[in-house]
Amino acid sequence: MEKQNRRSFFKSAGLLTATIAGASTKSVKASPENILSEDRMGVLVDTTTCIGCRNCEWACKKTHNLPAGELNSYEDKSVFKEMRRPDSSALTVVNQYENEKRINFPINVKVQCMHCDHPACVSACIVGAFSKKENGSVIWDTDKCIGCRYCMVACPFQVPSFEYDKALDPEIRKCDFCFERTKEGLLPACVEICPVEALVYGPRSELIKIAREKIKKYPDRYIEHIYGENEVGGTSWLYLAGQDLAKTKALPALETKTAPGVSESIQHGIFAYFVPPASLYALLAGIMWLNKKKKESSEGE
Ligand code: SF4
Ligand code: SF4
Ligand code: SF4
Repeated sequence: MEKQNRRSFFKSAGLLTATIAGASTKSVKASPENILSEDRMGVLVDTTTCIGCRNCEWACKKTHNLPAGELNSYEDKSVFKEMRRPDSSALTVVNQYENEKRINFPINVKVQCMHCDHPACVSACIVGAFSKKENGSVIWDTDKCIGCRYCMVACPFQVPSFEYDKALDPEIRKCDFCFERTKEGLLPACVEICPVEALVYGPRSELIKIAREKIKKYPDRYIEHIYGENEVGGTSWLYLAGQDLAKTKALPALETKTAPGVSESIQHGIFAYFVPPASLYALLAGIMWLNKKKKESSEGE
């Protein structure tokens, strides 16, 4: 009952946000980019609840028109033998790790883009293709993207991937927080399908309160850490666990310092001895843009 109320609360919250977002959807292009809204949404992942069914992987592929196969093929647990990373064919994956507390009950950790509050990908993108939206999503504009792949290098979670296997017009791919669904008032596909509500969608600030309550109520079940609350300045996706996910190597051990600061200082450090970054970026952007246009026109012909 409590679960149903909670789900409907978050559904309503989603709808409310969607209504607000919907009201501004038409003006999304005109609205300022890279906003850190107080009302931004997030997902709370409870790794102590996740059963590793991988339904989320299937739903994500279906929603993003990626070859998904039959849902029952995801019952194959042999995939857990190796660690997988999200890539252009799977925007989210679930990995399995040894449970420090209960040996026969491995923990399952779903990974995807974290939708950082201060995204390194946004900071690194030299043509402004990436942006952080009001609802918390970090998305990118394929028309602006020149394929330089700086976002891939900058991301502290190693998330953006490139369609290397695509001969014509390969693109950057990553979890887009189901931007097209949420703006219509729908839940992200992975959240909607999760059979045990291991994924809860809602305003990030509310999710943090819920996570704290859970930690307080079940101190034996959870460690006192919400992964993503402060890592790299905070992320929209948050994790609860019974053990340190960074030590488990399920997620990277990161400082609270925002990643763009790090990547910017790297870039500035490198380029300080060469040409000013802006000129070099402009030159690179120009070359890549020309290449892209040349390719488009030859494809057109
Ligand atoms: S996880 Fe990586 S790709 Fe996703 S928002 Fe953060 S920096 Fe960008
Ligand atoms: S939010 Fe959407 S894009 Fe991201 S992992 Fe879930 S289903 Fe995939
Ligand atoms: S659908 Fe839910 S329970 Fe199943 S693997 Fe994904 S997060 Fe875990």
